[in-house]
Amino acid sequence: MADLFAPVTALKGVGAARAAQLAQLGIRTLYDLLTDFPRDYEDRTALRAIADLLPEQNACFEAMVVTQPRTSYIRQGLDCTRVTVADQTGRLNLAYFNQRFVAEQLVYGQRYVFYGKKDENGLSMANPVFEAADSVGVLTRRILPVYRLTAGVSNKLLGKLILQAMDACLAALPDVIPAPLQARFRLTDANRAYRQIHNPDSYALLQDARRRLVFEEFFVFSAGLSLLRAQRDTVACQPCQTVDPTPFLQLLPFQMTAAQLRAIGEICRDLAASQPMNRLVQGDVGSGKTLVAAAAAYCVIKSGHQAALMAPTEILAEQHAKTLAPLMAQLGIETACITGQLPAAEKRRAQQRAADGSAQLIIGTHALLSENTTFHDLALVITDEQQRFGVSQRARLTAKGSGVHLLVLSATPIPRTLSLILYGDLDLSVIDERPPGRQEVDTFLVSERLRSRVNAFIRKQVAAHHQVYIVCPAIEQTDDASIKAAEAWADALQKHLFPELRVALLHGRMKDKEQVMADFSAGSADVLVATTVIEVGVDVPNATLIVIENADRFGLSQLHQLRGRVGRGKDQSYCILVSENSSFETKQRLKALCDSNDGFRIAEQDLALRGPGDFFGQRQHGLPEFKVANLSADLETLKQAQQACADCDMAQFVRSESLLARVRALFGADEIALN
Ligand code: ADP
Ligand code: MG
Repeated sequence: MADLFAPVTALKGVGAARAAQLAQLGIRTLYDLLTDFPRDYEDRTALRAIADLLPEQNACFEAMVVTQPRTSYIRQGLDCTRVTVADQTGRLNLAYFNQRFVAEQLVYGQRYVFYGKKDENGLSMANPVFEAADSVGVLTRRILPVYRLTAGVSNKLLGKLILQAMDACLAALPDVIPAPLQARFRLTDANRAYRQIHNPDSYALLQDARRRLVFEEFFVFSAGLSLLRAQRDTVACQPCQTVDPTPFLQLLPFQMTAAQLRAIGEICRDLAASQPMNRLVQGDVGSGKTLVAAAAAYCVIKSGHQAALMAPTEILAEQHAKTLAPLMAQLGIETACITGQLPAAEKRRAQQRAADGSAQLIIGTHALLSENTTFHDLALVITDEQQRFGVSQRARLTAKGSGVHLLVLSATPIPRTLSLILYGDLDLSVIDERPPGRQEVDTFLVSERLRSRVNAFIRKQVAAHHQVYIVCPAIEQTDDASIKAAEAWADALQKHLFPELRVALLHGRMKDKEQVMADFSAGSADVLVATTVIEVGVDVPNATLIVIENADRFGLSQLHQLRGRVGRGKDQSYCILVSENSSFETKQRLKALCDSNDGFRIAEQDLALRGPGDFFGQRQHGLPEFKVANLSADLETLKQAQQACADCDMAQFVRSESLLARVRALFGADEIALN
C-alpha cells in the first residue's frame, strides 16, 4: 500500500521527466492525482446501431471489420488508412489519417467498439477511437472524465495514472467525515466517491460522488475555522489599561455616527478583555471605518503597545498615513509608513522605528509581512479592505506579536450569505449608517451617443471647483479600439477635449503613484484618468463625479467600490457608467447599480447575475481555493457541512489526524497547531 503523499514517481512508469510534466499541472504526489478532479465529462454511454448513427453526432457502435485495412499516400506527410466495418444494420467506411498503426490493430473479422461521429454527408467517419468489443470499456461505453492537460500529458495518460494512484492508495485513504455524519447526510463513503468522480458508472452516481466531495471540502474548511477559533480562545493577552478613545474622538472635526460609536464600544470591550480580539468591522464604502480603526489603535497605543494597519495598495497605505499621522502626532503618537517601493534607506529607517518602538502606529502594505519588519511590542493588527487579503495573510501579521488583537475592516462586496463562511471565525460589528449630510450618488448609464453631454458635465463639475475621476479598464491601447486605455485617453482629453483643464494620469505601473494621488487630493489636477488602482479606499472628498468607461467590463461590486470614490463630502455626487454593450444581461446588471446605493444588495445581485465563476474569479475574497465546490451552486451543501461541523465535538477533530492534515493543507500549516 503506497503512502498518500508519496511522490508520483512511486507509480510504475513515472520517471523524472514525466514527474516534471505532471508538476506543470500542480501534481506532485499520489494525493494530488486523486484530487485532480475532472474539469468535465464526455458522455460515451450511448451505443447505437450503424443505421442509427447521425451525422455530426458522437456515439459508440459495435461492429466487425469486414475489409483488410489499406493505407494510401495522399501527399507528402499525409496518408490515410481505410477500412470498412459492419453490423446487422449496415456498413460504414472508416478513415484514419496519419495513423498507419491502425492497420495492424484492426484485425479482419474481429469485433470492436468504436466512438466517433459520421461526417456531414453521412457516408464515412474519420478517426473514431476504438477498443476490442470484449474489453472493459475505457475509451467507449462509459462516461469519460476530461482533465486539464499540459504538454506531454494526454487525457488518456492522466486517466491511467489516476487509476493507478487509486489502486495504490485508495484503501488507505482515511475518511475525514465521521461515519455517523455520513449516515445522517446520506453521503457516499470517500473510497467510492473518489472512484466515481474519476470513473463514473452513471450520472446519478457521479452526482452522489460530487456532493460527497463538496461536503468534504466544506467540512474541512468549517472544521478549520472552528479550530482557529478554539486555538485563539486558549491564547491569553494583557488587557489594555486605557480603553477610552475620547481624547482621540475630540480631535475630530465632526461627531462620530451612532454606528461608529457602537463599533468602537464593542472594540473597547474586546481590548479590555484578557483574550485577544478577533473582530470584523463591516461597513459599506464611505461609512467611516478608518477612524473606527484609528480609535482602536489609539487605545492600544495609550496602553503602551504598538498597532499596525495593513492596506492592500500603496496608494491606500500612504493615504492612511497622511490622514492619521497628524492626528496621532497631536496626541504624542509617532507614525511610520512601510511600503514596498520606499527607497531602501527610508524603508530601513521606518523598519527601525517599528522595531525599537519609537513609532507606535505602523501603517503599510504587504511589506509589513516581510521578515525584515519586526515590532517592539505589537498588540493590535488592523487589516483594511480585508476582502483583498487571504485568511493566512491576516494570520501571518498577528504572528508577529503574542496575544495580538485583530481588527479586520471590510467594505463587504461579499454577499451576506457568504460572509458568514469567510469570516466565520470572527466577531462582527456592522456600521450600517453613513456620516450625516451624505447624499446618495446619482448614477446614470449612458452610451457613446451622449459623449458630448458627458464632457459638458465634466466641465460643469470642474467649473464648480470640484474634481473628477475617469476610470478606464486598460492602461495601454490594445487591438480592441473600443476599450478605453488610460494613457491614450488622458492624452486625448488633455490635448483635444479639455485643453483648459488640468488632466492627470494614474495607473498601477507608474512609480510615483502616491505622489500623483497626493497631488490630486491637494487639488493640483481637475481630472484624474485612472485604472482600477483607485478602486479601494481612496478618499478625496472634493471629487464629485466619477465616469467609468467600458463599465460592462467590470463586476457590479467593483463598480460599487469605484463609485464609492465620490459622495465622500457634503456635495451632491454623480457616477456615469459608459457602455456600448447593449445586451439585455449587461443592461440589467448596470441598471442594478443605478437603482441602488446599497453595497449588500448589489453584492447579492452580482452573485446571482454573474455566477460565482466571475464573482470569485477576481480572487479578491480571501477564500481558500476549493477544488470541487462551487460557492453559489453548492450553498445548500455548505449549510449542511457547517451544521455538521457545529454539531461535532471539537476534541474529535483534534484526534482525527487525517482531518488535521487536510485543515493544515488548506489554511497553511503555520496557522493550525498540532496539539
Ligand atoms: P470607508 O468606510 O469607506 O473606509 P472612510 O473611513 O475612508 O470610509 O471615511 C470616508 C470619509 O468620511 C472620510 O473623509 C472621513 O474623514 C469621513 N468621515 C468618517 N466618519 C465621519 C463622520 N462621523 N462624520 C463625517 N465625516 C466622517
Ligand atoms: Mg476604507
